[in-house]
Amino acid sequence: MQFLFKIADVYFVKERGAILFPGVPYSLPRAVQVGAAIIIERPDGSRIETTIKGFEMIRSIVPLEHAPFFVPRHIGKSDLPLGSQVFLAEDAAFDRGSVKPPRCNACSSPAVVRLIYGLPDAEAMLAVKGGQAILGGCDIFETAAQWHCTKCKAEWGVSEWTPIIRKANDQAEAKRTLQDAEALSRGTLSASVGDGGLVRCPYCRRSFDVRSNMSWNGKRHKTCGTYLTLSTQPPR
Ligand SMILES: [Zn+2]
Ligand SMILES: [Zn+2]
Repeated sequence: MQFLFKIADVYFVKERGAILFPGVPYSLPRAVQVGAAIIIERPDGSRIETTIKGFEMIRSIVPLEHAPFFVPRHIGKSDLPLGSQVFLAEDAAFDRGSVKPPRCNACSSPAVVRLIYGLPDAEAMLAVKGGQAILGGCDIFETAAQWHCTKCKAEWGVSEWTPIIRKANDQAEAKRTLQDAEALSRGTLSASVGDGGLVRCPYCRRSFDVRSNMSWNGKRHKTCGTYLTLSTQPPR
C-alpha cells in the first residue's frame, strides 16, 4: 500500500462527485491511472475502499505538483473528513489499450516506455513523471511509434493514433473522389471575374480570388471541385 496524500480539501461537483485535493503527487515513481484502487483511511481509523474515477483538469499558472481526482459519486463530502490519508491499493502499469512489450526489439533491454502524443492529460503526466512514458511531441502523425527504448533509443510499434488518422485520411480521400466524380458529371460551368479578381462560383455560391491557388487551379474551384470557364463578361 503506497501512501499518496492527506486530504487537504474536498470539492463536491454535482455531476461528477467529490474531488480530492491535493491529489496524486507527480513525484510518485509509479503510474496511477483511472480505475486504480485506493484506500481512504479516516482519522477515526475507518476505511473506504474505492477507485479513482477520473482526474480533474485544473488550470493553473503555477505548475501543479499533484493531480487532483474524483471518486465515485456515492461518496459524499461528509464521508471524506480533512486529514484522511489516501493510499494506492495496488501497483498499476500505465496502459492505454496495448500491453507494454517486456523488452526492446533492438537491444533486449527492459527499459521500454510508452510514447504519448499530443497534450498529455494528468494521467499521462503521472506516467511520464513515474518513468513509464515519455512525450512524443504535439504533432500526431500516421506512422507514430508506440514504444521507445530509453537505452538504445529504438522506437517501434503503432500508436493508438494511427488507426484514427488512417480513417480520417481514408474519409477525406473518399470525399475527394466523390467530389471529383460529381464535378465531372456537372461539366464545365461559366463564371465571370469581377472587380479585384473575385469570382462567385455558380455551383457552390462561394466567392474566391482567382489569384489564390488555395481556391483556383486554373481549371477548377478547389473548394467544391467544379470545373469553370472564366470570363471578364457576365455569363449569359
Ligand atoms: Zn533498446
Ligand atoms: Zn465552387
